[in-house]
Amino acid sequence: MAEESLAPYAVRASLRGRRINESAPTGRSEFQRDRDRIIHSAAFRRLEYKTQVFVNHEGDLFRTRLTHSIEVAQIGRSIARRLGLNEDLVEAISLAHDLGHTPFGHAGQEALNECMKEHGGFEHNLQSLRVVDVLEEKYAAFDGLNLCFETREGILKHCSPSNAAELGEVGERFLNDQRPSLEAQLANLADEIAYNNHDVDDGLRSGLLTLDQLSSVRLFSEHLNEVRKAFPNLAERRVVHETVRRMINALVTDLIEQTEANIKRNSPKSLEDVRAAPPLVAFSPEMYEKNRELKAVLRTHLYRHYRVMRMSAKARRIISDLFQAFMEDSRLLPPQFIPQSEQSKARLISDYIAGMTDRYAIREHRRIFAVEEI
Ligand code: MG
Repeated sequence: MAEESLAPYAVRASLRGRRINESAPTGRSEFQRDRDRIIHSAAFRRLEYKTQVFVNHEGDLFRTRLTHSIEVAQIGRSIARRLGLNEDLVEAISLAHDLGHTPFGHAGQEALNECMKEHGGFEHNLQSLRVVDVLEEKYAAFDGLNLCFETREGILKHCSPSNAAELGEVGERFLNDQRPSLEAQLANLADEIAYNNHDVDDGLRSGLLTLDQLSSVRLFSEHLNEVRKAFPNLAERRVVHETVRRMINALVTDLIEQTEANIKRNSPKSLEDVRAAPPLVAFSPEMYEKNRELKAVLRTHLYRHYRVMRMSAKARRIISDLFQAFMEDSRLLPPQFIPQSEQSKARLISDYIAGMTDRYAIREHRRIFAVEEI
């Protein structure tokens, strides 16, 4: 991207660089190099088989973490371009933001966190950073992907003060009450726009969510009524698509307008000003409220649907069974995960489990617990 099209408050180049010094890339920017490394990572490929809401084998059309991440990058890039922000950085953060997710979505993360209670806990956001900083084994000269500081700080969306203190420069802002770049703020909200909308789409497709349940959601019903009026004979599936498309558009437009207004009011002249200012990338208060309404309905009717709860309960059982079995007898672990010391044992097992795809975890559970399997 041409540097002259970037706003003065955009991230123009990586000021704080990489942890291990490398020569500058040729023919691409530092953040394009980060994006390329993320796409070539093993953790990125595994996203294809990790649950967003629906477990991968439940249907071929549902979002997975991979298609979710691509949608986040798409939304993030379009907004970045409109705001004069660094698209390459937004794309890199978006594609990496879910790399640390366990199998089976949030149920998996809660189960692993519970297992790790006595051993420092588990948090998918911190794990995403751990994947790019430590766990990927692709390069001769360093562990991890050796990404730029600005990409790493974008991946670390939230962090407790005690964890922040251990993370060095990338944790500093949580201790100094500073904001990350606008690119990082944007990737975070692009994530929200993506999942709220695709969960409506997937929820309706699966039949777990009904149009009736969504009728109290203004963001949905306003657009649905418009579509029905403009296209009275349209097939139901297309009505839903057209409605969701308009919802995304409304959220994106609102975010751009409100962020422009916030930027105007705070007039940041540099990235340093952005760090000191309150969060500038935001929805308008009205859209924030409408978005909250949508999230509440998704929570009640989709994320807590009995069929989703059943899958979550299975997920919890699989994860805690595996963790316990490996803790009790680490000889059951594949050789590369066999701990060298008692202290590192729980974290290694947690890394192994977090890296699993849904189906790998199901198979591994069967291999360990089913008598007829080997
Ligand atoms: Mg996400």
